[in-house]
Amino acid sequence: MTRPASALRESFAALTVLLTQMVRALVSRPETVDFPFGPPEISHGYRGRITVDPEKCRGCSLCVRDCPALALELQREGKNVFKLIYYPARCAFCGQCEASCTFGAITQTNEIVHGTSDPEALQEVLVDRRSASPEDAEG
Ligand code: SF4
Ligand code: SF4
Repeated sequence: MTRPASALRESFAALTVLLTQMVRALVSRPETVDFPFGPPEISHGYRGRITVDPEKCRGCSLCVRDCPALALELQREGKNVFKLIYYPARCAFCGQCEASCTFGAITQTNEIVHGTSDPEALQEVLVDRRSASPEDAEG
């Protein structure tokens, strides 16, 4: 049994569309990004990891108090001796710490935090303030 001419025409038209799309896909820019083989294209407003300007930080711990994810820790040894530690794997990227810091020390960037099998290894000492005088160290 032979196929009617109209069915053949439809098949040919569908094949033409398919081939056209294949050629277009081959010569056009990829729709997907290169990540993780290249840098990700991240929009300006993306809420990513935080950074702290150590010079501005006073060790007030407002950011620690307001962080809903326990992603910040202040280890104080004296009046002007403290460390501010960040745990990116716990961070919810909510931006609350930036809003809470009255000294403008925290900035939320658009940098992503990569996945890892060892989340605690991502922890980072954002501020490591050492004593300038013996009285400071005494607290
Ligand atoms: S980053 Fe800001 S809110 Fe956090 S301890 Fe430093 S000064 Fe205080
Ligand atoms: S962005 Fe949110 S979750 Fe992350 S450290 Fe700041 S307050 Fe905590």
